[in-house]
Amino acid sequence: MADSMPLVLDHGEPMSPAPTQSLITLRGVAKTYRTAFGGEVHALAGVDLAIGEGEFVCVVGPSGCGKSTLLRLLAGLDDCEEGTLSLDGTTVTGPSSDVGVVFQAANLLPWLTVRENIRLPLRVGGRHRPAEARIDDLLGIAGLRDFGERYPYELSGGMQQRAGICRALVRDPRILLMDEPFGALDALTRERMNSELQRIWQVSGKTVLLITHSISEAIFLADRVVVMSARPGRILRELAVPIPRPRSFDTIVSSPAYPALAREIRALLNAEGDAT
Ligand code: ADP
Repeated sequence: MADSMPLVLDHGEPMSPAPTQSLITLRGVAKTYRTAFGGEVHALAGVDLAIGEGEFVCVVGPSGCGKSTLLRLLAGLDDCEEGTLSLDGTTVTGPSSDVGVVFQAANLLPWLTVRENIRLPLRVGGRHRPAEARIDDLLGIAGLRDFGERYPYELSGGMQQRAGICRALVRDPRILLMDEPFGALDALTRERMNSELQRIWQVSGKTVLLITHSISEAIFLADRVVVMSARPGRILRELAVPIPRPRSFDTIVSSPAYPALAREIRALLNAEGDAT
């Protein structure tokens, strides 16, 4: 996917044409929150973004610039008052089975086993054979084959988050939206989870939009890194990551493209007032 994209798209200049087969399209999206005291928070303004099927896109930006808002709009969990969001040409009007969402906390229900937690979105009672086969596949993909009958408290934070990813994938969505999914994990576990996610993405062929504060995580995972401005958030720059896959943290940091990409993203974020 990265091969077909220009290295840099600067939204301050005329945009290159969007990929012809965009699965996710945002045009002129704006979002303003009304606060309890009658004030307004302009979270997003004029967001244009196109993501192709099977692409892995990471979004970075200063805290409070509207990244989570963007993800909530795409997930159909909130409405925007300006612009359009569409998935495969259909305007987003609410949650869709085509979209799975993963948040920072796995939020597994503690009284259910891992398998029962993953089964929840299917809304099938008892042991429905096709569903169980799918859950077995997902447990295998996520390296949790022996943990389906365990309870969340018996799992590490990284394993719980992998179970959360399985739950998001159980309805076989085309799109996975992830909001800082590994933000609460220690650095080493986070690197392992990045490798796991890369593998899961490569096996599953999903389209992924992932929000992160970590520049190295963004470069490791993404075909394209999207940098947002300070609030009201808009897309400042899109940078393709021309590093071959599968990637490892050892190989990306020694890749010739890595330092320049990291420097550019850091400079953009610093200019927007973020010390990430
Ligand atoms: P980010 O994910 O980039 O940190 P958010 O999308 O969470 O940013 O929030 C963008 C801005 O909108 C922030 O200033 C936040 O305080 C504000 N905001 C988010 N949700 C609400 C809400 N429900 N009501 C009022 N303001 C909100």
